Amino acid sequence: MPAYKKSKKSYGQENANFVGQLVTRGGKIIRRFVRDYDISCDLKEKNIFAALNNGQLKDLQETHALWESHGMHDREMLDKRGIQEHIKSDAYVGGVIDHSGGHFHPLNLALGEASAIQQGGGTIYENTLVVDIEYADDAIKVITEFGTVTCKQAVLCGNAYLNKVIPKLTDRVMPVSTQIIATEPLGDLADQLLPTDVCVEDVRYILDYYRLSADKRMLFGGGTVYGGQDPADITAKIRPNMNRIFPELRDVKIDYAWSGNFALSFSRVPQMGKLHERVYFAHGYSGHGVTGSHLFGQILADAINGKTKEFDAFAQIPWIPFPGGRALRVPYSVMGSWWYALKDTTGM
Ligand SMILES: Cc1cc2nc3c(=O)[nH]c(=O)nc-3n(C[C@H](O)[C@H](O)[C@H](O)COP(=O)(O)OP(=O)(O)OC[C@H]3O[C@@H](n4cnc5c(N)ncnc54)[C@H](O)[C@@H]3O)c2cc1C
Repeated sequence: MPAYKKSKKSYGQENANFVGQLVTRGGKIIRRFVRDYDISCDLKEKNIFAALNNGQLKDLQETHALWESHGMHDREMLDKRGIQEHIKSDAYVGGVIDHSGGHFHPLNLALGEASAIQQGGGTIYENTLVVDIEYADDAIKVITEFGTVTCKQAVLCGNAYLNKVIPKLTDRVMPVSTQIIATEPLGDLADQLLPTDVCVEDVRYILDYYRLSADKRMLFGGGTVYGGQDPADITAKIRPNMNRIFPELRDVKIDYAWSGNFALSFSRVPQMGKLHERVYFAHGYSGHGVTGSHLFGQILADAINGKTKEFDAFAQIPWIPFPGGRALRVPYSVMGSWWYALKDTTGM
């Protein structure tokens, strides 16, 4: 269930509207950065949420109606024939196309943004592990393995990788690993499989997500490991999922495979707040943080500059601890995922 669908009931209409706008506002910020800083990151338009059975399609119809009620009119329902105009696969019964969505090369976006920061006078210290933070009334000391930075404000956004550096944040989110494989360049076959070059995710609890790279490789992702460990053989794990959607790719070469961690919050709602008057944090986008982190960055910047309305609205949303705490959250989440996988498979 999308975070904002739940949030209307749990946190009130205003916060639900706010959370519902996360995706579109974040996407607009990214497009502005790409334009203003002339970032080459193969930005392409539109994405599809795909349903594998009628139960999922019905859920999508309800979600679509909810989106509309929040003034989000960029999304359009697709039936089986409609979705096949975008994805040449028999796997789906329909879906939703989001005309405001999109996809791009994320590392190249990050590199372009880093370069813009440097051109604006900022300094980036790569490969410099923060090991502790000390707060005093007039200054914050960020202690790294190589030295200490004293600053007026600090924003902690280590997400799934912050580990135990800030104990107060450790329990709020759980690292989860997800994996991607990249085929060899597919040439014309790529255009046949995804003729409109959209990116796709299905709506299962443990989902497939995929898109074409600029050099026409299929980048196919999925898999979830609670706790954040890498699977021993990423290709062996992900390839069967890709073959199920696109049997035509059964014999193509897999050139690359990788994994990384995202930070899952129990409610799936991302979190931001303060640990100290001038120490902020933001994390827990639960696998959808590319746009979310851009919006949160804007909200944090506004808050630091004295415009706190949106920060205050978000910071008041209560976070829900994982059942079982740090010791048991992984096995409990695995058990929960089995239940949702059963629902997804049977279409309950
Ligand atoms: C394989 C994969 C596919 C994904 N696909 C999508 C997708 O299609 N769409 C989407 O929206 N999201 C996707 N995500 C999730 C998305 O990548 C995250 O939500 C997003 O990167 C969160 O941004 P962030 O800046 O909060 O955290 P991150 O991008 O994780 O950055 C955190 C940074 O903090 C640094 N850090 C942590 N601790 C310390 C420390 N103590 N000292 C110094 N530095 C530290 C880390 O090194 C890292 O650079 C995917 C994630 C993975 C792994």
